[in-house]
Amino acid sequence: MTQQLGARAKLRHYFLDHVGEVLTSDTLREVAGISEWARRVRELRNDEGYQILSHHDRSDLKPWEYVLEDPSPQQGYARTMSKELRAEILDRDGHTCQSCGAVAGEPHPYDGRVTRLQIGHIKDKSMGGTDEPSNLVALCSVCNEGASNITLDRPTWLKLEVQIRRATRDDQLKVLGWLVRKYSTEAREMLGHPAKPARIDMVSPPSAVRTSLGDDQE
Ligand SMILES: [Zn+2]
Repeated sequence: MTQQLGARAKLRHYFLDHVGEVLTSDTLREVAGISEWARRVRELRNDEGYQILSHHDRSDLKPWEYVLEDPSPQQGYARTMSKELRAEILDRDGHTCQSCGAVAGEPHPYDGRVTRLQIGHIKDKSMGGTDEPSNLVALCSVCNEGASNITLDRPTWLKLEVQIRRATRDDQLKVLGWLVRKYSTEAREMLGHPAKPARIDMVSPPSAVRTSLGDDQE
């Protein structure tokens, strides 16, 4: 356990010393000094709120590249849950992931690794969710970290479109900003401005993009 914490701390320091730099998995493995370095990077993202981006977030990153763009972790990630509360939730939920049914300690159906359960929030803490038992649920690390979305049930375009159409304008713009950032090259081509390496802000998309979405709304 101490070795794990040590590896996570080493990675945290390294990322904070190299904010904005693209780091490769070779480097991170070396820094962490353990083969399970990727799990520690996920913990920095999911438990500590560091926005470590990968190719899932930015299409210009290779699958072995990672970058921490902002040194300050997102709010709402503080580890405040007591051991007793954690045990209570696991007990209540039968030590079983309430999303996929994987059982703690048994091989997980997704990757065959030993299932580890985490305590997830039904309403996220960043959205005002509390640590009350009614807001807590036992989830395996695969479900809690969203990795199951990659291979299990991907939402269809039809489902997504319905959801996005129903969302508020603000949330639609957030989706647009996220996609424009992830697919910046493709977005520029669609708008007829190919290959201009401008940085695109995630929260406020460029005005040209905003106008074209506005035309299409409702
Ligand atoms: Zn699960």
